[in-house]
Amino acid sequence: MISVIIPVFNEEAGLPRLFERLYKAMDELGEPYEIVFVNDGSRDRSAALLSEQHQRRPDVTVVILLAVNAGQHMAILAGFERCVGDIAVTLDADLQNPPEEIGKLIDKMREGHDYVGSIRRKRRDSWLRTWASKGMNRVRDRITKIRITDQGNMLRAYARPVIDAINRCQEVSTFVPALAYTFARNPAEVVVEHEERTAGVSKYSLYSLVRLNFDLTTGFSLVPLQWFSMFGFVISIGSAVLFLLLLLRRVVVGPEAEGLFTLFALMFFLIGMSLFGIGLLGEYVGRIYLQVRHRPRYVVEAILDKDT
Ligand code: UDP
Ligand code: MG
Repeated sequence: MISVIIPVFNEEAGLPRLFERLYKAMDELGEPYEIVFVNDGSRDRSAALLSEQHQRRPDVTVVILLAVNAGQHMAILAGFERCVGDIAVTLDADLQNPPEEIGKLIDKMREGHDYVGSIRRKRRDSWLRTWASKGMNRVRDRITKIRITDQGNMLRAYARPVIDAINRCQEVSTFVPALAYTFARNPAEVVVEHEERTAGVSKYSLYSLVRLNFDLTTGFSLVPLQWFSMFGFVISIGSAVLFLLLLLRRVVVGPEAEGLFTLFALMFFLIGMSLFGIGLLGEYVGRIYLQVRHRPRYVVEAILDKDT
């Protein structure tokens, strides 16, 4: 059985079109399936539209209503905990991932892979988004062991053992594709189409994208922290040498008062680096803080299922 998991946050404008294309595509696959919508605390009519859809197709539709917005990745985790398929496929609600491509992922899974990611053939986002995300892709590739070609793309398939492993994690701020990758024995990727958002607006501001990338890097790698200590180490050796040279100069040539601005420049640079370092430490400390609180990661308000 295939479980399709879709996080929904304020998507009322695009949902009708999604229902039309998604159910058609799944019916055409001719395999048993369920579609798990996770309403991530939408403030528009999304929840109402989802419950209508549940009434139209109660046999294959599950709706999980989260009480408050928990974020796209937490919503997907809520779907993972509830889904029953041997294969779970995640998908965005805005039709940027064409539902017709699900079959391609399933075929690849049947070749014996337990995780199938996807690469967008041509990305339909603004150039700034595309460029920034390519840059982050490269950084993440360098500093983590995670080999995902196109990290920003959520159209992915996961096998049951991977889902079970994810369900056993209690991480609070995470990045589902990367987490899944760490559990996959035989990952693969396929190339898929990508479309422009059909309706509604992107839920990610530049700020939340930066946040997401910190989740991805500091959540899966200690390298930033290690680089930072290496940097501090090199700098302190350098300044020790500088100090010795100045001392020597003072003895040989006499005291100096020039080069003041060079010193300023050096100082500001060091202050900047230390602020960044403190911030970086804060990233890790913050994650520890979130983790030790052991709060529920999301709150389910209601589940619409076959029996409801
Ligand atoms: N989403 C969510 N909770 C959030 C933000 C987004 O469930 O807090 C969902 C959203 O409804 C969509 C998917 O995550 O189905 C991807 O969001 P979006 O299309 O806005 O991201 P983008 O494509 O702009 O990166
Ligand atoms: Mg989108």
